[in-house]
Amino acid sequence: MAIRKITEYPETVLGKVGEAVTNFDEKLEKLCDEMFETMYDAEGVGLAAPQIGLSTRLFVMDCEGIKLIAANPEIIKKEGEQSSPEGCLSVGKVPAVVVRAERATLRAQDLKGEWFEREADGYAARCFQHETDHCDGKLFIDHLPKMRREMVVKRFKKEKKWN
Ligand SMILES: [Zn+2]
Repeated sequence: MAIRKITEYPETVLGKVGEAVTNFDEKLEKLCDEMFETMYDAEGVGLAAPQIGLSTRLFVMDCEGIKLIAANPEIIKKEGEQSSPEGCLSVGKVPAVVVRAERATLRAQDLKGEWFEREADGYAARCFQHETDHCDGKLFIDHLPKMRREMVVKRFKKEKKWN
């Protein structure tokens, strides 16, 4: 297993709609192992394939007791509203308040290609939505008003220079 390099804003792969996962084989399993390893190493709670440079509809997460692999994810149901600070490993974890659904139902395929549905609320529901967005080529900053988005990007660029 290997820790992958995390793709950072504004690399183009982060803005692309991912290709569907079609092969549910050992290669996919190995990739998911590496994604988990990379996510834990970066102290994240979720990681999507575009964040390691692959334009693929796939994410892993381990958030509030929900640990799963989601291939070809979609959010099929949303309820309520929450607004809390959110960050992204691809944007240096610079936080910004994002409005999301309080409760969300994820539909996706597991490592064997079996479809499953999982419901969550709060932080885990936020994670479902954030990671599914990555698979659609969308970043959390795309949900922000222009000014706030620019502030996050500016802070991220500054932090990169310091490191
Ligand atoms: Zn992210």
